[in-house]
Amino acid sequence: METTMTFEYAPAPESRAIVTIKPKYGHFVGGKFVAGGKHFPTINPATEEVLSQIALAGKADVDAAVKAARKAYISTWSKMSGKERGKYLYRIARIMQERAREFAVLETLDNGKPIRESRDTDIPLAAAHFFYHAGWADKLEYAGLGTSPKPLGVAGQIIPWNFPLLMLAWKVAPALAAGNTVVLKPAESTPLTALLFAEVCQQAELPAGVVNIVTGDGSTGALIVNHPGIDKIAFTGSTEVGKIIARAVAPTNKSVTLELGGKAANIVFDDAPIDETVEGIVNGIFFNQGHVCCAGSRLLLQENVAEEVLHKLKNRMQKIRVGDPMDKNTDVGAINSKEQLAKIIELAAVGDSEGAERWSPECKLPSKGFWFAPTIFTGVTQAHRIAREEIFGPVLSVLTFRTPAEAIEKANNTPFGLSAGIWSEKGSRTLWASQQLRAGVIWANTFNKFDPTSPFGGYKESGWGREGGRHGLAAYLKGVSHE
Ligand code: ADP
Repeated sequence: METTMTFEYAPAPESRAIVTIKPKYGHFVGGKFVAGGKHFPTINPATEEVLSQIALAGKADVDAAVKAARKAYISTWSKMSGKERGKYLYRIARIMQERAREFAVLETLDNGKPIRESRDTDIPLAAAHFFYHAGWADKLEYAGLGTSPKPLGVAGQIIPWNFPLLMLAWKVAPALAAGNTVVLKPAESTPLTALLFAEVCQQAELPAGVVNIVTGDGSTGALIVNHPGIDKIAFTGSTEVGKIIARAVAPTNKSVTLELGGKAANIVFDDAPIDETVEGIVNGIFFNQGHVCCAGSRLLLQENVAEEVLHKLKNRMQKIRVGDPMDKNTDVGAINSKEQLAKIIELAAVGDSEGAERWSPECKLPSKGFWFAPTIFTGVTQAHRIAREEIFGPVLSVLTFRTPAEAIEKANNTPFGLSAGIWSEKGSRTLWASQQLRAGVIWANTFNKFDPTSPFGGYKESGWGREGGRHGLAAYLKGVSHE
């Protein structure tokens, strides 16, 4: 019989004293904070505490932001040498590093993700995106994207709530490096780090209007998408909204990149190193509460190792610490919003009613805030909704396969194609599988690894274009193909 040893962890709370949250925020337009009209609350999803009141941008606010961005584009940013633009990007990157703890605490308060993740992943990667793109600013002609690459103009950028500052960095850094100016809208439930980023732009003395930030909901997003003064739309979010945006820009001259949903297959072959694989499965689906578009949410296990992997996975899941995101020991934090929690609960219930078997470790969830225990469903078939639809939560659907060909067939049987994982000790099998998989990012013996030098993006309903690397730069330059 196996005995499980448990270790009790003493609380290790991070202090929130480093951040100053104002009771109310306006928009950041033309280098200044300007008052907003209507406001809505942003809350801490772990406690339901109201953190601040956020302005809801309407037509006049978006117009003002686009005007400021155009003015900055014409009068300064497009005229400045790449070398000078690069200096500003380096400066922003360094300030982000200096203020990393402040950003991490604020991100965790507003988003609900564990402080360990915002501190060790989100914020360092956001700074890395600025460093990386700072390096490109004066070398665009050597990027293999034409001898005299030109910016597009004003970019409208709309981002989601799962990696608020990191998604901002993915959008703003390449746009600025390529010589564009931007109007960015953070998600309605996580605007605070974008507003702190606006302060960083002031601190870096970035010319007024190069970065403009308007806050609001989908209605503000739609105003940006449909604004005639914008040359490019960059969107990360749901496939549903991505389709609305694709339709809206189709009859216009706007360039567009879309980074949408996913339902990644994480494939475990029978020669995989099992213990390492179990860590990768946990990281693949429970990192950031599963609020990850490239999450490994469909686990495909080769039948002859399925029992062993599931046994070890359940043991491992019993050790996942769910709770206070501000505690440095926490592995899984709060679900970002009440609405998202309702969606996860609903799809999990569909899993039950379609006959899959649900399992969660015993864990005590806090009484306030939005929580969902790490969950796996076994006995899932390809027809089940939990095998087809993105749950965007800590819920793993487990399927099995007998032959490598069957694994590929099942992995590709999805309308999405953002990412995939392969676990095998055999290089030839890994290479073969990666060539068969219709996904933009494929990890081998690891999962959820990100790097600014590596292009990221999807096939099929997972999106258009790439972000990061040379490919990502192309999306902010005139006349260059995205792929
Ligand atoms: P999620 O499922 O991650 O909440 P959404 O696609 O709903 O994704 O939201 C991503 C971003 O898109 C948010 O900033 C949101 O405010 C914005 N958004 C929502 N609806 C629209 C729309 N119709 N047009 C433009 N932006 C939108």
